[in-house]
Amino acid sequence: MNRILIVEDEPRITLFLEKGFRANGFMTAVARDGQAAIQFALEDEWDLVILDLGLPGKDGLSVLEELRGQGFHHPVIILTARDDVQDKVTGLELGADDYVTKPFHFDELLARVRARLRVSGTATGQTEMVLRANNIALDLRTRRVYAGDRLVELSAREFTLAETFLRHPEQVMSREQLLNHVWGYDYDPGSNIVDVYVGYLRKKLGDELIETVRGVGYRLRSSG
Ligand code: CA
Repeated sequence: MNRILIVEDEPRITLFLEKGFRANGFMTAVARDGQAAIQFALEDEWDLVILDLGLPGKDGLSVLEELRGQGFHHPVIILTARDDVQDKVTGLELGADDYVTKPFHFDELLARVRARLRVSGTATGQTEMVLRANNIALDLRTRRVYAGDRLVELSAREFTLAETFLRHPEQVMSREQLLNHVWGYDYDPGSNIVDVYVGYLRKKLGDELIETVRGVGYRLRSSG
């Protein structure tokens, strides 16, 4: 059974989250401020942390920074009322795996949580040779790509970009992250090559697959 630490100070939201996760077979605990969050997270075993940014005392971004600094490696999903691009970017840079903006649908958060647990291997415990998301299947052994039952021709670079997205479903990837993953660190960060290649993938795999997150980057939709 997966264990989720909910870091949130609003009782209405903690109740809603606990009820939702428990109904879906998760174990939960709640930390109501930043100091408690750090203590709980480091003292006990968790598979994932839901982290509110607006907390009394130590705020969520400081909590995240401290946890990552102490070697806490489990997935963290930021929950924030602030529709603030800078907070999201900072959160991702500090090591958050994903974020959800309030108000949110529980189903969306649950899908993100399951996607993170699949990637971290906690849910399946094994390395997948076929990555799947939406109607896309990418076979790492044969390097074949299918959209539904249609075989799609991808160049080596397009394949690596698609693989990067499929390994991080529902996660916002910045242009810099994608450049680093696919083209390596020595690429000109001002280049628009990521946008060009996302365009190629959309053309070959479907427009709906990769969503543009304005000012941040791109996100692969894991379900249609
Ligand atoms: Ca709050």
